[in-house]
Amino acid sequence: MTIPLYHQDAYLRTFTATVQAVVDGGVVLDRTAFFPGGGGQQPDRGALRAGDRTWPVTGFARQGEDLIHLLDGAPPAVGTEVEGELDWAFRHRMMRTHTALHILCGVIWNELNAQVTGGQMYEDRARMDFSLEDFGPARVKLIEQRVNEEIAADRPIHVRFLPRAEAFQVPDLIRTKANLLPPEIQTIRIVQIEGLDLQADGGTHVRSTKEVGAVRITKTENKGKINKRIEIVVE
Ligand SMILES: [Zn+2]
Repeated sequence: MTIPLYHQDAYLRTFTATVQAVVDGGVVLDRTAFFPGGGGQQPDRGALRAGDRTWPVTGFARQGEDLIHLLDGAPPAVGTEVEGELDWAFRHRMMRTHTALHILCGVIWNELNAQVTGGQMYEDRARMDFSLEDFGPARVKLIEQRVNEEIAADRPIHVRFLPRAEAFQVPDLIRTKANLLPPEIQTIRIVQIEGLDLQADGGTHVRSTKEVGAVRITKTENKGKINKRIEIVVE
């Protein structure tokens, strides 16, 4: 099993790990700080090093509980201790963007009582879909303003792990449909923006809302009678 170090510490930029297995095109490590992608967040970029050799990480693949780091070049042998280094500029941007979507989610719930139905992050922007009939320019302006107020409020962000049964007692979590998580997941990772948003979530986020910077709504789209899409840019 590859231990996901990023679940405990999203600010880890370098780490050491041991090669557990060599598979076609990559290696399985005993632990990693690389986020492999998921929940709308893009996979990390970076490299593994051992001695004077460097392997750019080109992607990730899952094999049960093992995470395969796909590498450019003939991979290091089993037992090799490697150092991993993340492309921090990219990852930190993802963390800010991901956190911005949580803020947006909380604000849209508070202001419009609308549920989020989906989201996706890209290198330079992100989008979020939510169920709402009317989303005119005045509402767009209000949402953008409220999001930036929550950023300025510098709300702390906490990560917790709760047993499944306990997690499902939390009312805010039930609204996010966390109960749809597969039954084999017995420990739920919870990301909370104090006083604003609570999600069952496996991604990486910043420590407080101020670190997001500023959010601009760049586009809105009608995806159906009760489905609206917002596109944001984090500055
Ligand atoms: Zn998240």
